Amino acid sequence: MAKLLEGKILVEQIKSILRDKINSAGKKLKLVSIQVGVNPACEVYVKSQKRAADLLGIEYQLHQLDKVTNGEGLVSFIQELNQDNSVNGIIIQLPLPLHIDYKKISQFITPGKDVEGMHPLNLGKLIFGKAKILPCTAAAVMELLSSIGLNLSGKEVVIVGHSEIVGKPLSLLLLEKLATVTVCHIGTFKAGKLEEHIKRADVLIMAVGKAGLVKGEWIKEGAVVIDVGINKVGDKIVGDVDFEGASKRASWITPVPGGVGPLTVIMLMRNLVEGANL
Ligand code: NAD
Repeated sequence: MAKLLEGKILVEQIKSILRDKINSAGKKLKLVSIQVGVNPACEVYVKSQKRAADLLGIEYQLHQLDKVTNGEGLVSFIQELNQDNSVNGIIIQLPLPLHIDYKKISQFITPGKDVEGMHPLNLGKLIFGKAKILPCTAAAVMELLSSIGLNLSGKEVVIVGHSEIVGKPLSLLLLEKLATVTVCHIGTFKAGKLEEHIKRADVLIMAVGKAGLVKGEWIKEGAVVIDVGINKVGDKIVGDVDFEGASKRASWITPVPGGVGPLTVIMLMRNLVEGANL
């Protein structure tokens, strides 16, 4: 039976490291969050970000811009924040209204204040293994893997999902650890090859957003399963993997919720501290 790979113990450890850094620097940090329009999905993230910031003594300021704000308006607001020395980090809450393209906007945040790690300069540093500010979810997955002391060198790691926030940066972080990395996506699924890749994974990382996509019997005996997926099924939140079935074969498995999610928000705070050079 698999052991549970939970985020909460790690969250406490990382929080304590960050708190020490902030206290010994004696600097008041400020994180500014920008929301355009009202979206219930944002409220959950904003609440958990504020809670994490409060616990670390970081000032969290939410700016709710009108839903008619356009890309130019958002960029000029970001540029004001870039110039403001009292602001250490900027987050843009997703989803943005359809008329604003996040990929275009995120490059206007100055790299040192890019707590989500999505500025092209921070992403580019990943190629050289030199990034200090990392995309939060990818960083959370790496923390979970490192917490179980797994030597990734030569391991077959299969990532399913090739988004900019999870699969692509993770593939680079894992290559740095000399893992043999396979990235699967919708093309793999359509070609009917998902099962065969998953079946040979020593480490499986799921980041799709489809409940029940991976069957328990596909999991290799002793594999480590990290489920990033978040899916609402009835009134329950589940991942992409059949948790019950996979638990019978895996050595470690993340619960959903309670695995990757709690760590993601603390990675934002770590990026803030890195960006402020504490
Ligand atoms: P995305 O929509 O940007 O990317 C989805 C990926 O899944 C793409 O690579 C796509 O090609 C692939 N895909 C879609 N259908 C597939 C199929 N049938 N078989 C194989 N691949 C398929 O998603 P994202 O933003 O990377 O998020 C992925 C999931 O992770 C979502 O459930 C999201 O809610 C969750 N998520 C969780 C956290 C967290 O902190 N736990 C953070 C970010 C995202």
